[in-house]
Amino acid sequence: MYTVKKHCLSCGSVIHGRADKRFCNDSCRSSHNNARKEDCTNVVRMTNSLLNRNRKILSKVLEDGVESVQIPKDRISLLGFNFNYHSHHLPESLGRYYWFCYDYGYLEMENGWILIFRNGSENFLKKLG
Ligand SMILES: [Zn+2]
Repeated sequence: MYTVKKHCLSCGSVIHGRADKRFCNDSCRSSHNNARKEDCTNVVRMTNSLLNRNRKILSKVLEDGVESVQIPKDRISLLGFNFNYHSHHLPESLGRYYWFCYDYGYLEMENGWILIFRNGSENFLKKLG
């Protein structure tokens, strides 16, 4: 007969006792669970801050009262815009997508330009086709 050595998921010590035990004690269990919760919180916080930064950049480029603006993609990248992060997207008639950061959206145009617009303007989206 042989026994399988099990190790605590938190500190890695060999566990003695019941076969389904995963931690040596309550303190190891709670520190493991807290660390997992923190990991999740960090991912959410990091994603939120990237999305907020993207939104802020779009809102700065699109001045008050202006419906849409075209800008070279390079220029918005230089402002710190991260094209990997968006809140949602919608298909457009030419097979492209409108990408959104909350209430602001953009569409990639030819020649490395993007068109930035404020979301919620249904007429504007219709006009774009
Ligand atoms: Zn432990």
